[in-house]
Amino acid sequence: AKRQGRARWCAYTPDLAQRHARLAAIEDRLRVALNAHALDVHYQPVSHAEQTCWQRFEALARWNDPELGFVSPAEFIPVAEASGLIGDLGRQIMRRALRQAAQWSRQTRQRVTVHVNVSAGQLQGGDLPAQVEAALRDTGCVPSQLVVELTESEAVVATPPVIRQLNALRAAGVRIALDDFGTGHSSLSVLEQLPVDCIKIDRSFVRNIDVTQRRQSLLSAILKMTAELDTELVVEGVETPGERAVLDQLGVQFMQGYLLCRPVAASLFQVADDRSGLI
Ligand code: C2E
Ligand code: CA
Ligand code: CA
Ligand code: CA
Repeated sequence: AKRQGRARWCAYTPDLAQRHARLAAIEDRLRVALNAHALDVHYQPVSHAEQTCWQRFEALARWNDPELGFVSPAEFIPVAEASGLIGDLGRQIMRRALRQAAQWSRQTRQRVTVHVNVSAGQLQGGDLPAQVEAALRDTGCVPSQLVVELTESEAVVATPPVIRQLNALRAAGVRIALDDFGTGHSSLSVLEQLPVDCIKIDRSFVRNIDVTQRRQSLLSAILKMTAELDTELVVEGVETPGERAVLDQLGVQFMQGYLLCRPVAASLFQVADDRSGLI
């Protein structure tokens, strides 16, 4: 058994070294990209069941590096979080998204809202409300145009400074969403302890919901819970018409997913003819 253990350790070593080099390269290049303000943002609509065009979008960071090529946020966000770059990254994405919301609002004469992902680390400094206030002021957006999505919320510990910041944001009119609700990352205890306006259900609860009775029951129970709590529910990752039909039938109001629209560059949306939003 010991021999086997050693053999396995040896076999893993080159992989580990490679992995380290990759992470180090990402950190270096990310630093360069942030200095150059070179990250992009893609937008995915948060669709409303009764509306045909969109007034609400999630901002998702995108990075195409000249040396590394396209790097997924699933890879570079954890690096940013671990290396202290997440604060700068978060500020840049938030400003970019709010500028876009302001532009779309002018074009449509509707109040366009953006959801911006915020990592636990961004609540560490204690100055998120001030940062948000500055970004709103500089972009000309009103607070109700911003929803802060708390990602990796398992790392969001409901300490007094965290609760104080979330309360300050809400008092100003910014809404708070719990991302990936139901995955280990975001549990009932987080919902119990943090002031939130919206919960986002992870795709794993929606996949094949049309053929999985247990998932339907679970989602139906979550809907009742959010109604009781007066919390908005957004269902993520809707990919098939079958999944959508079940969600419609259950009365889900807000959905995101490839079926409705993939995350794309802002320039791919256009103002609807009646200016009621974007298409
Ligand atoms: P998330 O916030 O849960 O975002 C949803 C992810 O699911 C996005 O991946 C989106 O492209 C993808 N998605 C949307 N619809 C569908 C669908 O129908 N099917 C499937 N399979 N996937 C779908 P993406 O853009 O790769 O982002 C991954 C994660 O990276 C995000 O997950 C979020 O946690 C994080 N992230 C992205 N941008 C930022 C950012 O600006 N700041 C922070 N802190 N985190 C970010
Ligand atoms: Ca999110
Ligand atoms: Ca999510
Ligand atoms: Ca996620």
